[in-house]
Amino acid sequence: MLAAETYRDYCPNGLQVEGRPQIKKIVAGVTASQQLLELAIACDADAVLVHHGYFWKGESATITGTRKRRLQLLLQHDVSLLAYHLPLDAHAKFGNNITLAQQLGFVVQGCVMQGDAKGLLWQGELLQAQTATQFAQHIQSRLQRAPLHLSSASQRPVRTLAWCSGAAQGYIEQAATLGVDAYISGEVSEQTYHLARELDIHYFAIGHHASESFGVQALAQHLAQQFDLDWEFVDVLNPV
Ligand SMILES: [Zn+2]
Repeated sequence: MLAAETYRDYCPNGLQVEGRPQIKKIVAGVTASQQLLELAIACDADAVLVHHGYFWKGESATITGTRKRRLQLLLQHDVSLLAYHLPLDAHAKFGNNITLAQQLGFVVQGCVMQGDAKGLLWQGELLQAQTATQFAQHIQSRLQRAPLHLSSASQRPVRTLAWCSGAAQGYIEQAATLGVDAYISGEVSEQTYHLARELDIHYFAIGHHASESFGVQALAQHLAQQFDLDWEFVDVLNPV
């Protein structure tokens, strides 16, 4: 459904850890941290569905330390772990980018990039132009978290937008080539400050976790309807 096999990703997508064969309850969360697993087990989940799972490219392949403890929890309780990374950012209905845009009330024009980056950078606009300060307040009211705003040099009003969930501050130059007033992503780097000024584009770092909280909920809700399951979103708060 997510066409996961068509992405060149940094981790395996789909069933990462196999638990019991029957699933009646799914717990959805952003990241398969130990805390999420403990909370999922406490509410009798058969499977945990996340955006950030395990087995990332470049990571040590040994089962030690935090990795051992997390896997041990899943295996001891016979709970499955399903993880969808880029396919869940990009999906046109359940993806983090489209669901974030709905949450923030953007008028969506569509995704910009194709190929390996398909579905990652999106473009749209606000119904009415706002000052950057008004826009930051709007984001805060919808996400219950104040964004970090890096101003464009000209302090232009904000109407046209590009966005990419997660740690995609590196797309700020691609966003600027679209001529939009503001670019929105989850995290920020030291150099983002200078790029925002020099490219004359506002940058809003809205939180990696906050920007990727909605896709997994949309997907879990869909799966629950499709297969008659119980589901619950467990939000392990993360200030980053
Ligand atoms: Zn992410």
